Amino acid sequence: MKTTNLFMQGPVFSIEVYPVKKNAPIEVVYRAVDALAGLAPDFISVTYGAGGGAVTSAATVEIASLVKNTYGIEAVAHIRGIDLTAPEVDSLLGRLRRHNIENVLALRGDVLPGMEQTGEFNHASDLASYIHAECGDEFNVLGAAYPEVHTEAADAESDLAMLALKVRSGVSHLLTQLFFDNDAYFRFLERVRAAGIDVPIQPGIMPIVNARQVERMVQLSGCSQPPAFRAMIERYGDDDASLRAAGIEYAIEQCRDLLARGADGIHLYPMNDPDTASAILSAIR
Ligand code: FAD
Repeated sequence: MKTTNLFMQGPVFSIEVYPVKKNAPIEVVYRAVDALAGLAPDFISVTYGAGGGAVTSAATVEIASLVKNTYGIEAVAHIRGIDLTAPEVDSLLGRLRRHNIENVLALRGDVLPGMEQTGEFNHASDLASYIHAECGDEFNVLGAAYPEVHTEAADAESDLAMLALKVRSGVSHLLTQLFFDNDAYFRFLERVRAAGIDVPIQPGIMPIVNARQVERMVQLSGCSQPPAFRAMIERYGDDDASLRAAGIEYAIEQCRDLLARGADGIHLYPMNDPDTASAILSAIR
């Protein structure tokens, strides 16, 4: 099923998983997927080389296939275009087709030191257009959105124009980057809808479970830290167990508020940790 059809039943709850880094045992991710699938999310998305690890598409295809064909849950396979050629994208789409995967998240990917860019897919919209040109409507193409503006964008206006281009290029469903400030999300949503972008947008929520994660996530995403969030980090920053409990509670409150204010659903980033995902999903469903 294409993920866009899921919204007909109400808010959509989904989870991101990442294949283990190269050389780590695959059993670790099998166990995580088994537990996360047990939470019966509407779909599971599977990252592709996220975080810059030297990971190939094989792990993404394998885990997406496991989700779809063994657990019977819709899978979304991420595709990072920045270092792929068109024949490599064709090959990847062919493998996804053979595994019955019909949803893909078209991404540019981060430009990392030492990365060989092919120049064929410089933006996510190039990849989305290519998939549509080659495969018609066979694949449902999702895209990424940035409520607090992508870190490389010159300004919010140009980022919004590029998001509109992404949707015109065939993206039918958006997943947002993580954020901690719901008001920032709703300000973004207002601007997006005013710009005529009417596809479903699932807010992305990451429960914070330790202080090191905060620093890394804020640095990577450039997201803001509202006062209640900062107060939580300052209060529990040195105490992992308490911060974990408070971080899960913060994420639950964020999700409840988003849903109460009409959000299309929640896309969780639980970092392959089924316990945090379970605590949040059981509290908000
Ligand atoms: P784009 O949409 O191409 O945007 C990148 C920048 O270029 C923006 O500043 C935008 O304003 C600008 N831009 C876009 N189109 C144009 C254009 N035509 N002309 C000029 N400027 C333009 N990374 C991974 O490596 N693997 C993953 O699995 C992964 N999963 C992700 C999932 C989600 C939900 C999100 C939010 C991010 C994910 N990322 C992943 C990170 C993502 O690859 C980075 O954020 C990357 O920097 C941007 O990717 P994008 O697809 O949003 O790029």
